[in-house]
Amino acid sequence: MSKPSVSTPKADILVIDDTPENLHLLSTMLTERGYKVRSVTKGLTGLRGAQAAAPDLILLDINMPQMNGYEVCQKLKEDDRTREIPVIFISALGDVLDKVKAFTVGGVDYIAKPFQVEEVLARIENHLTTRRLQKQLLTQNIQLQQEIRERRQAEEKFTKAFRASPNPIAIMTLAEGRFVEVNPSFLRMSGYTREEIMGCLAADLNLGFTQDSYHQAIQRLQETEALQNHEFEFRTRSNETRIVLLSTELIDLSGDRCVLNIFNDITERKRLENEFISLVSHELRTPMNSMIGSLDLLATGQLGALTEQGKQVLNIAITNTERLVRLVNDILDLERMKSGKITMQKVKCNAVDLLTQAAEAMQGMADQSHVQLITEAITADLWADPDRILQTLTNLLSNAIKFSEPGGAVWLAASMENGEQGIGDRENGVGRDPSALKIYVRDQGRGIPTEKLQTIFERFQQVDASDSRKKGGTGLGLAICRNIVEQHNGRIWAESTLGQGSTFNVTLPLYRN
Ligand code: ADP
Repeated sequence: MSKPSVSTPKADILVIDDTPENLHLLSTMLTERGYKVRSVTKGLTGLRGAQAAAPDLILLDINMPQMNGYEVCQKLKEDDRTREIPVIFISALGDVLDKVKAFTVGGVDYIAKPFQVEEVLARIENHLTTRRLQKQLLTQNIQLQQEIRERRQAEEKFTKAFRASPNPIAIMTLAEGRFVEVNPSFLRMSGYTREEIMGCLAADLNLGFTQDSYHQAIQRLQETEALQNHEFEFRTRSNETRIVLLSTELIDLSGDRCVLNIFNDITERKRLENEFISLVSHELRTPMNSMIGSLDLLATGQLGALTEQGKQVLNIAITNTERLVRLVNDILDLERMKSGKITMQKVKCNAVDLLTQAAEAMQGMADQSHVQLITEAITADLWADPDRILQTLTNLLSNAIKFSEPGGAVWLAASMENGEQGIGDRENGVGRDPSALKIYVRDQGRGIPTEKLQTIFERFQQVDASDSRKKGGTGLGLAICRNIVEQHNGRIWAESTLGQGSTFNVTLPLYRN
């Protein structure tokens, strides 16, 4: 039996009893236990009192003149303001019929007189607790309903945004990369039907990312929670390539960890951008070549001797114009390679010759920069376009020398690679044997931060925004190198330790009879 204590929050109890002694006894007993008591002797007065300020519980005598307890209770139950108040009947009548009636009219309990104080208190406490719990349940219920409503609204908003979004969106399971939901824009971009996609592994559909690259991306995603605008080439069902920016985020979908992939198809934007760049470059090339001619003419002194200061200014003009010409040529070169206008003229070529020629071409620059150039070539026959491989190696060597301190060394070396995957030229039957040649250019320069090791192979991406300007580069060299190497079905990547140096690796397919 739970005893009310002083610490119990004080409940407000209304006692309605026409016998003053009873009334007195009950109210004294309850007041002593810390309850707030209102007592009245008439049914009607009690009813009005309850309607004016609802008590937490009512103790109600049955036998009263004018309006008896049953009537009072009935009226209480008919009124919204008082319906929920628990009513305990107290009466000297011990008749079963009365008790039944007490419950029928809405009473929660029945105590017969003479009563035991402890029993009355226990029952009161019991009903108050029940009432409190009921109220709590009611509030919780209202809250829950509100939450459900809000969730439904949020879900509805998400579903609408998901369906109507012009951005292709796909949701995949985190564990496997299996499609669980895609929107109409995604279906339009990919060319697949919903049935073809749902439940499939992204890697199985050949969308442009392998299971390996998917897992790498997921690993990065788990470290950072979200990936923004990661550019990659998306392959559609009809094998068309779309350039997309992918933003991913981890979400919970019915308790499953999933990846929300939002795509931004920038193919058209890229095409216009490239078209614009190539147009501008074409337009620039002719006047720039004419500028070079004029400046060279000035430099020869045929148009009159220049002062020392004049020569200096002319040299600055020549250096910068040459840089502009390089930039324009590089842009056009890359553009033509990307659009397939330049194809690799592959022939059997000797690795030693290529490495030696590249080193010889860069020796002058190395001497000027006081950098030692060390070549360690090995004999191997490659299936490659010698001019383009030379272009790649001189580019890497030029970077290595540029980013080295005077007194440093740069190595150009090669080694045989066995078991290299994804290399080979299927049309020429070269790729069936997986062995390849790995050429590397190593320096002891400033190094490249880990997060830039991939991006530097993209157009105009530098470790430091001023690198190209300060070192006379164009910001396109590595992008061109990557394009050339990939057109040989090879791989190019960088490894580096900050402050200690970098190594640029290139793998190329070997020539096979
Ligand atoms: P750039 O014309 O600016 O050299 P690249 O595409 O060849 O253009 O190189 C891109 C950027 O990569 C460089 O600006 C530089 O920040 C970084 N980089 C390339 N090679 C090296 C290297 N060997 N050491 C340090 N940073 C390098």
